[in-house]
Amino acid sequence: MALLQKIECQNCGAPIDWDGSYGKPVNCEYCGATFMPAATGMQDVWLMTDPVARARYEFNGTLDKLEHDIRYEVMRGQDWSDLDREYLREIARLKAEGAVRKLASFWAISPHPPIYRARRDGEFRIGGQRIPFKKGEEIVWACPMTRDRFDLELPVLIADFSDTRVQQLCGEMSNAMQGRMR
Ligand SMILES: [Zn+2]
Repeated sequence: MALLQKIECQNCGAPIDWDGSYGKPVNCEYCGATFMPAATGMQDVWLMTDPVARARYEFNGTLDKLEHDIRYEVMRGQDWSDLDREYLREIARLKAEGAVRKLASFWAISPHPPIYRARRDGEFRIGGQRIPFKKGEEIVWACPMTRDRFDLELPVLIADFSDTRVQQLCGEMSNAMQGRMR
């Protein structure tokens, strides 16, 4: 008898009891949706990755290396955390309100999350905190490595990237990651 775990409904996000069997559809009693559970399924692996970055790896024939890196170095064999998902919801809210816009560039290191720029002053709400941002600042999801490097508690980096110190740090990180991925 497998231990009961909680998984999130893929449709509404409600917590559902799950017996750990992957091949068996799960029914959500909140919204009625039926879906196949996938702890770290293919789609989930790419949750934080900018589609253009992914396409670039695919073009270079190195998509499997990026996937491996995300699975084991970024996700560390786990699923994304609640805070990671909260980040995505908050970005979606700010985007809908026109407070941020997605830039045509992505973070230099795996999993290459998209970068957003604030169109006005505002607040990023995550983990019960409100982090202020100023117009022109950039917002990006911070992977564990980025969190270590910038000493962040929460998975969000808000910074003015015209600052040379920040650019330098990113450069170092980028080189380190390229070294690992070879
Ligand atoms: Zn549901």
